[in-house]
Amino acid sequence: MMKVMKFGGTSVGKPERMHEVAKLITRNLDNKIVVLSALSGTTNSLVEISNFLAHGNREGAKNTIEKLHQHYKAFIQALVQKEENRKNANLIIDEHFEFLHIILRISFSEALNKDILAQGELMSTKLFCVYLTEIGVDHELLPALEFMSIDANEEPQLGAIRIKLNDLIRKHADKKILVTQGYICRNVRGEVDNLKRGGSDYTASLIAAACNASVCEIWTDIDGMHNNDPRIVNKTVAIEQLSFDEAAELAYFGAKILHPTCIWPAQQENVPVKLLNTMQPDAPGTVITKEAGSVGVKAVAAKDGIIAIKIKSSRMLLAYGFLRKIFEVFEKYKTSIDMITTSEVAVSVTIDSDLFLDDIVRELEPFGTVDVDKGQTIVSIVGNEIAQTDHVLQKLFDALNEVPVTMVSYGGSAHNISLLVPQDYKTKTLQLLNAGLFGL
Ligand code: ASP
Ligand code: MG
Repeated sequence: MMKVMKFGGTSVGKPERMHEVAKLITRNLDNKIVVLSALSGTTNSLVEISNFLAHGNREGAKNTIEKLHQHYKAFIQALVQKEENRKNANLIIDEHFEFLHIILRISFSEALNKDILAQGELMSTKLFCVYLTEIGVDHELLPALEFMSIDANEEPQLGAIRIKLNDLIRKHADKKILVTQGYICRNVRGEVDNLKRGGSDYTASLIAAACNASVCEIWTDIDGMHNNDPRIVNKTVAIEQLSFDEAAELAYFGAKILHPTCIWPAQQENVPVKLLNTMQPDAPGTVITKEAGSVGVKAVAAKDGIIAIKIKSSRMLLAYGFLRKIFEVFEKYKTSIDMITTSEVAVSVTIDSDLFLDDIVRELEPFGTVDVDKGQTIVSIVGNEIAQTDHVLQKLFDALNEVPVTMVSYGGSAHNISLLVPQDYKTKTLQLLNAGLFGL
């Protein structure tokens, strides 16, 4: 059976980190597909290059390209030692930078932007393969552009991916280690495209589902998903086990370690996902499976930039069809609602994008008085069967005595309670919950 191992930008961002990745993938003899991100910082630089070009600033683009090229040249010197391998690596890199120099002279388009963004993963995987060759590890590079694809709605085509990927796996059945790019794919027009920023996790999960892998390992520089945001509270602990549903809620509501879309492919084929730490490879990390492992509160997470919209109308009293009319407005502007609460005379909803806010408010006004509160934060408390857990609400509200909670959503799912608080109270809320719910 196949194992998928995905390494993020920081795990391959320095030559010595890349050496470490080679050690990790050769610790056992399992067949594996190794998915790599671009070296940390590269995708940001490529975005910068694209932005310069989109604004006609060729000089700016050229400077960034040259700086990046120097970075890669230095990287290669420390990555491989044999003259022949250094030469090969430089030839590979020069070709990609030649492409970047050519684009300085052609007119900018969205398709070109995607081509630019793809360079990072193309280079990281090729360099890694040069290193594997240097240390004598047999492997094969599978170009993601030959099997990863998205449809007209930019959704991955799991069926097509499965057929193409398994063909490639069969073709290279003699290789224990297959290396491929995260993030990049082809779109319906056959052009180079991508799975959006942070999309390498998604690639790994799609690959794991497509080849029915035994496990999808996501290697980062943290020892798993934590019970709270380590950047905000002092003491957090790694969560041992989560269900797919719990993990999806946590990823969506702010846990940065995992890309929110990346759960469903693994969940669909029931492939366990493991979050592991390259710095502490033997630490248990977090295991995400069908079963939650235990009941009760597991974690809290926060999502900023939320807008609350309240629609108040006495006409709503005993009226039917009111909610439908309101939802239709959001649907029309393709804006999804995160939280909703209702009373007899009012409906409050939250959204996370102000792209069509003015239009939405204008169209809601005929239904009643509309109030908008920007700068809100959703704090989500996640855990299996949380609603049935003893005293959970009491603990929650005891802990948040001093916080002006403006909305509460409870009972919508069996494993989530969401609160809305003003953004200024986010830190305090997360700290109080850490003490009140976890005793930390
Ligand atoms: N390199 C891409 C990014 O920085 C994809 C990824 O790393 O997941 O967004
Ligand atoms: Mg990432």
